[in-house]
Amino acid sequence: MASIALSHLRKTFGKVIAVNDVSLTIADGEFVALLGPSGCGKTTTLRMISGLEMPDSGSIYINGKDVTNLPARLRDVAMVFQDYALYPHMTILENIGYPLKVRGVSKNALTAQVQAVAANLQIDELLMRRPGQLSGGQQQRVAVARAVVHRAQVFLFDEPLSNLDAKLRLEARAFLKHLQREVGITAVYVTHDQAEAMALADKIVVMKEGGIVQVGTPLEIYRYPANTFVASFIGSPPMNLLSCQLDGSQLQVLAGDDTQSIGIERMALPSRLTAGSQFTLGIRPEHIRLKTTPTANSIRGHLYVTQTLGSESLVIVRVGDLLITIRLFQDEAPPLPDVVYLCFETDHLFFYGQDGQVLQ
Ligand code: ATP
Repeated sequence: MASIALSHLRKTFGKVIAVNDVSLTIADGEFVALLGPSGCGKTTTLRMISGLEMPDSGSIYINGKDVTNLPARLRDVAMVFQDYALYPHMTILENIGYPLKVRGVSKNALTAQVQAVAANLQIDELLMRRPGQLSGGQQQRVAVARAVVHRAQVFLFDEPLSNLDAKLRLEARAFLKHLQREVGITAVYVTHDQAEAMALADKIVVMKEGGIVQVGTPLEIYRYPANTFVASFIGSPPMNLLSCQLDGSQLQVLAGDDTQSIGIERMALPSRLTAGSQFTLGIRPEHIRLKTTPTANSIRGHLYVTQTLGSESLVIVRVGDLLITIRLFQDEAPPLPDVVYLCFETDHLFFYGQDGQVLQ
């Protein structure tokens, strides 16, 4: 296994700055997710680590060795990309076993290793077929299996589970996580699915417009989003973000024609908030309590819709021009009147300045 260090990586395609000044360290045995919306530079970063793309500037180190100018085949990385790159003329057994064959592993040992990994990924029934006879999701698992038997020092995954149905996706995630625990692989995993990143990664790197906006463990990122971009990207449903203004001893929720005030006695306000300041208040759906009668410091809203999710339910309430989501840890929302009241748990509030960055 290996550590990875990226230092001031930059890559442009014509006028497009795909990756801009990315520096990151990945410890030996760490599973890191690059997370962000489409086009933020995740794949380009991964391709530079693999050697398939050369940076305009900056350096890449694997185990302390500068590999920036080393060709991909000399970097000992196993890659699973969105296009699975399977050999069409080989059987699935031969495809998965190829890295072992190159290494001169005996046929019996190769078959045993391939069968064990294939069983974990539920493709052991398909070993005698060829890639053209498999569905997209099955091909994807073959590509993952080939990377796993490769046992390279670094694993690079680019949305490797995107073609799987929900159930298989959960199983494949569990297998990858288990593999990491067993073998301690160093992995960089590209995804735009925050739930996938949360479930798999030791460390999440949130990217936006070619740069890194926050790095942390899944819980750090969830509990302390550094800016409104991360706050609105992590969590499903995401954090509610409300435009507010400080007005004397009141916090005004600016909701178009229905601006409402909340008393701030028990709120720990950031010191940078002064009278008249405008800011964004963040509160996660699970930290709003729903009442049917007004209470001190509640705001009034109109029931918009309820959603039953099985183990929990969501209530969406309209306050002026805002829609606020509340998570209830019960399988079904109780019958609710048209007018409801929302109480924010004051120790779970986030304050963001007009630049979107968290206020201390
Ligand atoms: P996705 O989740 O959609 O795969 P991403 O975060 O992985 O997106 P990249 O594929 O790294 O994003 O692309 C970053 C930016 O660079 C995008 O604006 C993309 O259009 C551009 N880009 C990537 N590859 C090329 C290329 N070969 N030629 C020109 N532009 C490119």
